[in-house]
Amino acid sequence: MEIAARPQSQLNTFYCVFCGQKTKGEHLELNQNTGMLLARQERTYRGVMCRPCAKKTFAKVQLHNLFFGWWGTISFFVTAVYLPLNTGRYIKFALKSDKV
Ligand SMILES: [Zn+2]
Repeated sequence: MEIAARPQSQLNTFYCVFCGQKTKGEHLELNQNTGMLLARQERTYRGVMCRPCAKKTFAKVQLHNLFFGWWGTISFFVTAVYLPLNTGRYIKFALKSDKV
């Protein structure tokens, strides 16, 4: 009920999940894979992000995938999917968050 009482401008205010800065409210999801030959570990970064945090997270996740993602049979294929998937999501995010 408290939300309904807020002015419209406050309802559309979003904050970055990493730094807490006010942001436009674009959502980004990035997948990270760690291949460990016989095992693998997956991590997902998702949420509303500001542009600098999204750029930083994208670079971190993609570099991790490039260097540590491939080491394993399943990991090899998972990483081959995650790299273009993350790139596509990031480009989409960057284009949307550009229109402020
Ligand atoms: Zn941020």
